[in-house]
Amino acid sequence: QDHQPGLEGLMQPKAIHIRPDYRGSGKLEGKKALISGGDSGIGRAAAIHFAREGADVAILYLEEHEDAQETVRLIEKEGRKGLAIAGDVSSSQVCNDAVARTVNELGGLDILVNNAGVQIVEEDIEAVSDEEWQRHMDTNINGYFYLVRAALAHLKKGSAIVNTSSINAFAGNKALLAYSTTKAAEMGMTRSLALQLVSKGIRVNAVAPGPVWTPLQPASWGVVDPQAVADLGKDTPMGRCGDPTELGPAYVYLASEDASFVTGQTLHVNGGMIING
Ligand code: NAD
Repeated sequence: QDHQPGLEGLMQPKAIHIRPDYRGSGKLEGKKALISGGDSGIGRAAAIHFAREGADVAILYLEEHEDAQETVRLIEKEGRKGLAIAGDVSSSQVCNDAVARTVNELGGLDILVNNAGVQIVEEDIEAVSDEEWQRHMDTNINGYFYLVRAALAHLKKGSAIVNTSSINAFAGNKALLAYSTTKAAEMGMTRSLALQLVSKGIRVNAVAPGPVWTPLQPASWGVVDPQAVADLGKDTPMGRCGDPTELGPAYVYLASEDASFVTGQTLHVNGGMIING
């Protein structure tokens, strides 16, 4: 079955998170990866691409559910080990345990992808409750920090950290004040960590997606509507939103030795939107 990005691809079942014609070439052979939010959307695409490139992959996600088990099945279908870990990244203990389980059950840790994210749409600043604001900070910032800190005992020369940021960190978004704030903070974290860890031979980079059709997007909730898909991406020069299959290769690149001279950078995968900064 051909999987085309764009409207056709997006209307296909969400289990398809890699193009059938994506040929792995062992870029991550023997590596062990932990991906937060790896159960769904962009994280799931990264997990399956990593597995096709030869990595064993643990996924950490908020709630036990069938999609997480399905992601593990898709990793195993690639002939690699998959490990599902349910837990909230806003707890440092959960992050410590997730790293420990990954190391124990996969045999090490070479790649950390910080990708778990929450996004709540707000009318304006007065509509943002303390709880909603805090949830963004806890998940999108604290969770990234806790996982890196826990992973550092195991990461080594040649290891890589890839953080998922967002176009909203750069362009701002009037309906996503809390979310955009966290996504910009992740950029500061990415750049500072890159400088801190360069002496250990650990690279730290970010992917900043534009609009991608995933369960994070309220527009996608319960909708199989071509118009909703078209609307989500209409502001990009390509005039469409992205498909998670189009994000996976960016994570492979930054996690692999292909990016051996790249650290502290942001890879924009956004249908051509021009970004300053
Ligand atoms: P998604 O909803 O498909 O996946 C996000 C996953 O994160 C969830 O399935 C959940 O398991 C996990 N998660 C959320 N809160 C968590 C918590 N507290 N603890 C552990 N896991 C938690 O969304 P997605 O679109 O694939 O988003 C992945 C990342 O990409 C996020 O960081 C998001 O901000 C970013 N992003 C998405 C878009 C987009 O248009 N979809 C654009 C830019 C950036």
